[in-house]
Amino acid sequence: MGAGIEVSVVTGAGGGLGGGIVETLLERGDRVIAADVDRSALERLRDRLRAQPITGAGSVDDALELVELDVTSAERWESLRETARERFGDPTVLVNNAGISPKHNGVKLPGTQISLDEWNAVIAVNLTGAFLGMQTLIPAMQRAGYGRIVNISSMAARIGGRIAGVHYSATKTGLLGLTRGFAWELAPSGITVNAVAPGRITLGMAQQTTEEVNARMLESIPVGRLGTPEDIGRMVVYLTGAENGFVTGATFDINGGNSML
Ligand code: NAD
Repeated sequence: MGAGIEVSVVTGAGGGLGGGIVETLLERGDRVIAADVDRSALERLRDRLRAQPITGAGSVDDALELVELDVTSAERWESLRETARERFGDPTVLVNNAGISPKHNGVKLPGTQISLDEWNAVIAVNLTGAFLGMQTLIPAMQRAGYGRIVNISSMAARIGGRIAGVHYSATKTGLLGLTRGFAWELAPSGITVNAVAPGRITLGMAQQTTEEVNARMLESIPVGRLGTPEDIGRMVVYLTGAENGFVTGATFDINGGNSML
């Protein structure tokens, strides 16, 4: 059984995709904890949402809590859990969306030139961050016998990083293993765990590369456009719907046909 009004945690909420995911979850009527290491990005998101009508949530301020979170810190995750409990109750939905893809003058470094520090930073945010979030929030979902988890991977997990570095594609493929491993463990507890692998999206990381790279990407997308944060948000809403308990351990490729697997 579903939990009624979902209490949803979205990491990386200050970024392009994260903002779109928060918005679609608010439209459904969720109570949303928007978490990011960048506090001012969260405040910009709240200002944008306040300025537009959000049908499901009523007042944005009643339904949205901003939490400064470094996903690599177990202590910060515990503090987020306490904030969520006090404000809305134990989270029933977790969307691990925070991620980094280091670029140098708008382009990736070849794998042979990536420093160990950069490698470790990408593993910490993209992979360990999701693991810590799951470790922190799953026990309450198990007690409730219900939960919905979505890990935001990437097309780079499927075809390798054309424009992102080898560390990025390694972590995004690692997220698929993390998803399937937890999906097995949690299925008997009423908790689903799925991954979404976006192709090129208009906002966020797409703006951290050159126009030329995005134009080249566009040429390989059969539907003839880049994706939007809402394209991803709608899939997250589906996967976190109480009615979709039979969908678990799966990866959903949302890329306009760019990579058909
Ligand atoms: P973005 O850079 O706009 O957003 C990422 C957000 O994560 C930022 O707000 C940043 O502050 C936050 N973040 C970084 N380190 C953090 C940390 N340690 N703790 C908490 N938050 C942290 O990028 P985006 O395009 O919105 O990407 C969101 C997710 O979607 C990422 O996981 C990315 O890999 C994935 N993705 C994006 C695209 C795309 O084309 N935009 C394609 C495939 C996958």
